[in-house]
Amino acid sequence: MNTLNADLHCHSVISDGTLTPEELAARAKAQGVALWALTDHDEVGGQARAAAAAAACGLSYLTGVEISVSFLHQTVHIVGLGFDAENTQLVNGLAQTRGGRSQRAHEMAAGLAGVGIKGAFEGALRYAGNPNLISRTHFARFLVETGVCKDTYEVFRKYLTEGKPGFVEHRWANLKDAVQWIVQAGGMAVIAHPARYKFSANEELALLTEFKGHGGLGIEVVTGSHSSAECASYADTALEFGLTASRGSDFHSPTESRTELGALPLLPDALTPVWSLLAERIAHAPSA
Ligand code: AMP
Ligand code: MN
Ligand code: MN
Ligand code: MN
Repeated sequence: MNTLNADLHCHSVISDGTLTPEELAARAKAQGVALWALTDHDEVGGQARAAAAAAACGLSYLTGVEISVSFLHQTVHIVGLGFDAENTQLVNGLAQTRGGRSQRAHEMAAGLAGVGIKGAFEGALRYAGNPNLISRTHFARFLVETGVCKDTYEVFRKYLTEGKPGFVEHRWANLKDAVQWIVQAGGMAVIAHPARYKFSANEELALLTEFKGHGGLGIEVVTGSHSSAECASYADTALEFGLTASRGSDFHSPTESRTELGALPLLPDALTPVWSLLAERIAHAPSA
């Protein structure tokens, strides 16, 4: 029975979340999470703190990351779980993936200046807990603060998605590289929130086939980004493609996130959970 309250996807101030790894661990524990992973974007700098905080509050822990990948002109996110966070190839690959963010942010700010929104680079940077990881989320917070939009969802819709003034097409990691960085570091690669992408059926088939071909083994089925119909649809996909299934809120902030840590439906029983293949990689909390 898939009764484990696992939450294997969330963000801290090390990327675009608003809580520290320690605050997230305490919140996950309070919400009844039993197995947790912090999955910051393109960055493992919070892993040691997250693992220590998890141990201190009695949570089992898997290392985590969410890697930005360019695939067929879209951005796809690949979650890595249960890897060695000090693995050189992974750490170097992530540094390379983060590398273009600052330049991209300047270009985004220029696009926003073109529609009369001044000072967006400096404004977004004030929200970035990690100056090397300036993200669209930080721009969204700045535009809410300055009253341009009422919430971050409105900012994305009007300014930060394809075709909008603050959107800049960006080249992230290759699918093959991202999966291999995770796998050679001893971890499992998982396709994040598959329903978020705007692929045709053929393009999605290409993603699933290539991902598996490179050694990818998992897919998020229950996530804060999926409706219940989408959960059911990707449960079928997991079975059809022989992928293990993951569950994660994608929690970013107590005020912005639609889904609380640990508050999603459980994985359907027919699915093999990702953690069943990661038993040796789980750091178990010391028993009280
Ligand atoms: P970036 O990696 O800089 O492109 O930023 C991507 C992040 O922006 C995601 O991880 C989400 O946290 C957030 N995001 C992306 N699309 C949306 C959206 N439509 N509404 C709200 N937040 C979004
Ligand atoms: Mn994010
Ligand atoms: Mn994502
Ligand atoms: Mn995420």
